[in-house]
Amino acid sequence: MNLSISSFFARKKQKKAILADTNITSLIFRKYESCGKRLFLLDYDGTLIPFSDTPKDAIPDQTLIKTLTALTLDSRNTVAIVSGRSRVFLDFYFADMPLILIAEHGTFIKKIHASWEPAIDEEYPWKRSALYMAETARLMVPLSEIEEKESSVAWHYRKCDPGIAEINKNILIRSVLDSPIADQVRIIKGNKVIEIQEAKNNKGTAGLQIVNSNKFDFILCAGDDTTDEDLFAVLEEAFTIKIGKGGTVARYYMRTPEDFRTFLSQFSRLIV
Ligand SMILES: [Mg+2]
Repeated sequence: MNLSISSFFARKKQKKAILADTNITSLIFRKYESCGKRLFLLDYDGTLIPFSDTPKDAIPDQTLIKTLTALTLDSRNTVAIVSGRSRVFLDFYFADMPLILIAEHGTFIKKIHASWEPAIDEEYPWKRSALYMAETARLMVPLSEIEEKESSVAWHYRKCDPGIAEINKNILIRSVLDSPIADQVRIIKGNKVIEIQEAKNNKGTAGLQIVNSNKFDFILCAGDDTTDEDLFAVLEEAFTIKIGKGGTVARYYMRTPEDFRTFLSQFSRLIV
């Protein structure tokens, strides 16, 4: 499978995803067994791990580590975690494992046991304006916080009065969209967080680098969020699975992260 960046811009239309029941998972297992170069592209929060009240509590458990380890033990498998999390977080929990890591929604890539590299060589001249607008929101909403990442500015309002937060969230989004930086960034509406991110960095662009690095004949990609849609959209022949309900360009969906974890753990039975 070799996909060009240009296909990324030809976004797929949303069709109704099919529930990945046992018929579908059997089909996926059969395809997996018949293929020699397999790639797993896995989102972290809401896919491998259920959401928790504070992001720092959503840490990998022993069952997940065991499942991922089992997958990596088969030399025909390449396993990548494609997350919005920072490099520090992913390194802390996964650096010792033979995994490809993608941090900050596709901003940085770390090949197996290599160093972190930026997915795109880029400076971020819009960041000063974005910080200014986020700071305005922070001052208006008590207990809200700003998180500055390399290629993004995030405004968190988890512990805040929902009414005040909602009004100022909309003001922040509007002010970014009406500003001169609007075409350089995109706004990611997350779970109690608004993230202003470099437009060129996304999971689709970063994921394609891995997809195109080898002739994979089996690709399984799973995610729960709008940022994962960028990756689903560029994977023409992959088994794409959205976790949870809602519009998606993925072919299949599963209802919960628990369902996906059970499914993923079953691959280890097929390792010979
Ligand atoms: Mg997610």
